[in-house]
Amino acid sequence: MNSVSIIDRKKCFSCRSCVQVCPNNAIDMQENREGFFYPRLNESKCVDCGLCLKHCPSFEPYEQNDFEKSSCAVWVKDDRKLFESSSGALFSAVAEKVLENGGVVFGAAYNNDLFVEQICIENINELYKLKGSKYVESTTNSTYSEVLAYLKNEKKVLYSGTPCQIAGLKKFLDKDYENLFTMDLICHGVPSERLFHKYLEWQSEQLGGKIIYCGFRDKDVGGCSCNGKIKTKTKTKTVLSALDPYYSSFIRCETYRESCYSCPYSSLKRPGDITMGDFTEITEIIPEIDFSKGLSLCIIDTKKGQALFNLIKDSFNIIPLEFSQYISIKSNLQKPSERPDVRDFVYSGILELSAKKFFKRFKEASRFYFIRFYSRKILSKITPAFIKKFVKRIIRGKAK
Ligand SMILES: Cc1cc2nc3c(=O)[nH]c(=O)nc-3n(C[C@H](O)[C@H](O)[C@H](O)COP(=O)(O)OP(=O)(O)OC[C@H]3O[C@@H](n4cnc5c(N)ncnc54)[C@H](O)[C@@H]3O)c2cc1C
Ligand code: SF4
Ligand code: SF4
Ligand code: SF4
Repeated sequence: MNSVSIIDRKKCFSCRSCVQVCPNNAIDMQENREGFFYPRLNESKCVDCGLCLKHCPSFEPYEQNDFEKSSCAVWVKDDRKLFESSSGALFSAVAEKVLENGGVVFGAAYNNDLFVEQICIENINELYKLKGSKYVESTTNSTYSEVLAYLKNEKKVLYSGTPCQIAGLKKFLDKDYENLFTMDLICHGVPSERLFHKYLEWQSEQLGGKIIYCGFRDKDVGGCSCNGKIKTKTKTKTVLSALDPYYSSFIRCETYRESCYSCPYSSLKRPGDITMGDFTEITEIIPEIDFSKGLSLCIIDTKKGQALFNLIKDSFNIIPLEFSQYISIKSNLQKPSERPDVRDFVYSGILELSAKKFFKRFKEASRFYFIRFYSRKILSKITPAFIKKFVKRIIRGKAK
């Protein structure tokens, strides 16, 4: 067998390079019970030519030419733009530059039914669709073929997404194009769209209306930390990650696609030209820094990435950084997220249980957890600092 049917399902990223490269339309994508998509081979159409395997980023990981990378912490000087992005607005600054120069930009956007898909925009007015982190798997659809068509027409193209999506694109194209620019995310994993929609159903039942907006990183409800908002036509609800079953299980790495737990792109070997990430951890390096409005970690991975960054750097505040300063605190630049035992349990019952019953199994959905969370917060606020120090010292002593 020379086709992607030999790929270990636990290592497939759902990038759809195989689907788009097959000359005989012998592959389509099929959803499993958890809601993740995998290729399905139609043997009667397959001629075993091996093309899909050759273009699969899981069969052989994509590797870039060597380049002396550099990195920095960045945040855009324009506060309005900073507010609209998850971190330091690195993505939107690069995207704006490409669009201003007549190019097109691909990235993850919600469609009208709140499914997340990679889409193409040609106009700055549409950039808002791609801004912000959506913590769910984004479907690539046929975007790799669309990119190829633009490249052949000599359009500048910026493609942004998870590292496996960028690797899939590069394997699909199979050669470098001067007019292609890519940005990958530091990525710890993605939940399935079925889980996300089960969550929207649960929220919708609580709010009594169809959910029309779900933001994971709304800076008006918590600076650049992980908090968001859910909206129906008439109501808006603040979502604190610590009290939300979907959000907290995402942060605890319990809900990811199987390939995320062995991700070959959780390293400094990046498939993109520029890598972007959150960087709240910067206080461990520079304690006095104020990052409350958001800040990005930016890694320049290639010469092209450097050229692109040079075009936007004047609009940013920049702090140059050595890799040795942060590599130990950005774990997904060193290794994939660990698969917790509870991962098997989390998706069980997703098809059978009602949204209410399904999320009742998460501790964050219980009243008791809610009360305990706020009691602890209040207690921490009213307890004098010297008592807190004393208690901490006792706990540390016991731990030794
Ligand atoms: C699923 C996911 C996991 C992440 N994990 C980490 C992490 O562990 N550590 C870390 O430092 N940073 C992580 N990030 C990156 C971080 O949250 C910011 O997206 C990044 O810093 C860019 O911020 P920005 O302000 O420059 O741009 P923003 O305006 O926030 O840009 C959004 C960018 O993210 C892309 N994007 C959004 N959602 C998705 C999606 N579901 N799939 C593919 N692309 C998407 C858009 O295409 C666009 O390029 C993650 C992002 C996502 C989407
Ligand atoms: S081996 Fe060739 S024909 Fe068969 S699925 Fe792959 S690309 Fe298509
Ligand atoms: S990783 Fe991409 S190319 Fe490989 S089998 Fe999965 S969907 Fe197909
Ligand atoms: S962790 Fe790896 S496999 Fe999972 S979505 Fe991110 S880049 Fe893809």
